[in-house]
Amino acid sequence: MLSNLMVGFILLSPPKFSFYDRGPYDGGVPKPDAILGYDLGTRHTNFRDQERVVLAIANAAKARVVPMEYGKTPEGRTLRVFAISSPENIKRLEQIRKDNETLAHPAAGQDLTPILKRTPAIVWVNECIHGDETASFESGMAVLYNLAAAKQGGLRAALDNTVVILNPVYNPDGHERYVVAYNSIPNGSADPAAYDGSLPSAFYGRANHYRFDMNRDRISFSQDETRQEVAMFLKWNPQVYIDQHGQVETYFFPPNQLSQNVNVDRDRVNKWTDVFGRATAGAFDANGWTYFVRDTFDLYYPGYLDASTTLMGAIGMTHETDGGRVLARLRSDDTLLTLRDGAAKHFTSALAVIEASSKNRAALLDSFANFKKKAVSGESAGKFQRVVLESTDPRPLLRFQKHLKWAGIESYFAPKGWRQEDAHDYWTGKAEGKSFAVGALVVDLAQAQGPFAKALLEPGSDFEPEFVKAQKEKKKTAPEGEDYPGPDQPEFYDTTAWSLPYAYGLKAWWCETAPKLGNAALVPPVQMGLGKTSPVGYQLRYTDEEDVLAVAWLLGQGVKVSVPNKAMKVGGETIVPGTFMFLAARNDDGFEKKLQAAAAKFSLVFEPVKTSYPDEGRQGPGSESVTQLRAPKIGIVMGSTGNLADVGPLWYLMEREFGLPFTPLNSSALSGDLSKYTCIVVPGGVSASASGGLRDFAQKGGCVVVLDNPGWAIGASGFVTLETKEADESLAGALFKAELDGRSFLSYGYSGAQDGKVEIAVPIDGGSFYKRRKEGGGVVTLSGDEKATKLLSGWAWDTSEKELADTVWLQDVPVGRGHVIAFTHNPTERAMWPGLNKILLNAMILGGSM
Ligand SMILES: [Zn+2]
Repeated sequence: MLSNLMVGFILLSPPKFSFYDRGPYDGGVPKPDAILGYDLGTRHTNFRDQERVVLAIANAAKARVVPMEYGKTPEGRTLRVFAISSPENIKRLEQIRKDNETLAHPAAGQDLTPILKRTPAIVWVNECIHGDETASFESGMAVLYNLAAAKQGGLRAALDNTVVILNPVYNPDGHERYVVAYNSIPNGSADPAAYDGSLPSAFYGRANHYRFDMNRDRISFSQDETRQEVAMFLKWNPQVYIDQHGQVETYFFPPNQLSQNVNVDRDRVNKWTDVFGRATAGAFDANGWTYFVRDTFDLYYPGYLDASTTLMGAIGMTHETDGGRVLARLRSDDTLLTLRDGAAKHFTSALAVIEASSKNRAALLDSFANFKKKAVSGESAGKFQRVVLESTDPRPLLRFQKHLKWAGIESYFAPKGWRQEDAHDYWTGKAEGKSFAVGALVVDLAQAQGPFAKALLEPGSDFEPEFVKAQKEKKKTAPEGEDYPGPDQPEFYDTTAWSLPYAYGLKAWWCETAPKLGNAALVPPVQMGLGKTSPVGYQLRYTDEEDVLAVAWLLGQGVKVSVPNKAMKVGGETIVPGTFMFLAARNDDGFEKKLQAAAAKFSLVFEPVKTSYPDEGRQGPGSESVTQLRAPKIGIVMGSTGNLADVGPLWYLMEREFGLPFTPLNSSALSGDLSKYTCIVVPGGVSASASGGLRDFAQKGGCVVVLDNPGWAIGASGFVTLETKEADESLAGALFKAELDGRSFLSYGYSGAQDGKVEIAVPIDGGSFYKRRKEGGGVVTLSGDEKATKLLSGWAWDTSEKELADTVWLQDVPVGRGHVIAFTHNPTERAMWPGLNKILLNAMILGGSM
């Protein structure tokens, strides 16, 4: 009797997890362990070895697996996804893709029933966007093997109803950087203080080559990996998208916490994340694993993979596993966590979602089709039916259109002028009638990508009222002056503003209706070339960043360029400050050939300067108020062995967007000879000193550009003292209306600068601001009127606009013959603010001559 009772109390430890217990398997398909020569999850696998594994599996299971290349990384690694399904589905794979495309782009009144009956659901599994969240990289191989080789059972049956698209690694460059460094040092100790827990931060693997966090990049669409993956995604239009991460103590899967972007169809997301959450929970409970839901991770910022794919019609979900990065780690309660544990959980969650998708195939497809129907009809856009953007120079509009295309959003140039009485001005917030000109860029929201387009384009995005209420309540939880135990922290996970028309600094309106403007597609003509010849020389009006980039290029080619800082009237025309002049008297014979080459390369027009004789007054091309430009030689301080995350966006912009040559400098260069440079840029996160080399450099006429965290340059030991203003509550990140001083050379190229002030949008976060100085130099400032509306987009507290009154966003400090130009916030962040590029380029290209 006693012994029988004893048996009842014996605790059986759960069997050791196996990646290979879903068989029987097809013996012809190689197991990852066999190819790697070690048990999956016991070492960090590098990119080439993973490539050998996934290609070998695909090759041995051709009836079920189709590899598809979709691009290359900046370091040249091949990006691939694998379509996996039953042999019957693989035979009709292209038909399935086309059917799905029809569901994503339904014609009005089209009967979709036959497609909904015959087509499987598409489930996309994304691994390793953050290169050092390595459990997802390892688990991808096990997922592929099991789907490719399982001969019977639930998994095999699931492939009748689904096509799985597996991306085994989204960020190979970041993963490889981390793993090669990790494998080269003593590793594997679980001691929390073990050496392998802290690599030099230059080798962190989270970000890609240019150190972008690609799980924030689906607003600016700046990175190759982003653009290429989204193009592939939009070819397949999956109904489910899981994005596998790993940086938490306990596994997370959705449902998400508040807030969720208003354009996702919150009811739909809540319903489906509950279905998938319960399915995953079931599989985890069976293994005795704990997890958490509805906490930490939101779905508000549309630049995440989960949010963007949800806005495109999938049920997008973030999964965060709790092992990986290191091989083993003891948690605070001395329990052991390994890379293999982390991979086992991702493997299990992926298969649970695939099986749940199979069970819910019909309902998932139906839900997807309805989402897209409402998008295409314009129903989901509500009153936000059309966005119109205008610019007298078509080049920024063409770039804007290209940007929308990366996001799968359609737009067109208006073939005629028209008027809308329901137009709302982005910059004034006023709703009034507006006549639009031919050539305006139009985005009609009634399109397949309508909800995503709305999320990216609308001036601001609503939060759930209960979320807003909760945040305001949190401010009240701590009595005045108390800092222990402290108030609840606000739950903004990320920046709250990104609206593209503001980001580009373009004039824009949104309209409540979208009347047809005709079918003729208009391609705006971009002028280029050399106008009439003139013995005096030529001028280039500066209206777009390409103009100042052309000047930098021409200076590098030995062409002499000058720029007036006062308006002049010559030959019946007004030449405004910031117009570039190329005078024959200062250039070698034949310099026109170089201008012609620049005209073609940068799409621009040089006009003749007819005479040097001013029509009135003393200002003319030969006068003292004209500055001769030095050829820019730019040095960017990258730090020493530190994290490159703060430098990455500028590095990317210089190489890929501006094509502007620069020297990446080690911090130690600042104590050496800087005389060959015209400009030294110190990005945020890099430490520097306002004494010694940099001060000497500025004294002698150099330009120092400080991006973000300018504390070292502003203050008692800096270049200038600015009083700080502490806010009551920190900003998560929002866009505010600011004024750019038209008297400064930094305003060159901005329309309206000659009239004194230009209104621009600037990103601001944090809770510490600088007050405007009486002595001047505040080139970008916020209005001193405490009651003036300054918030353009995003979340601000009731007190924020008052606190920001009379503060400085950009300070120009004359030092000797040179300048220190301090941005209080980073204009290059996430490459999200192209409207600020001209200020930055003016500082880097012109600053060393002013
Ligand atoms: Zn992550």
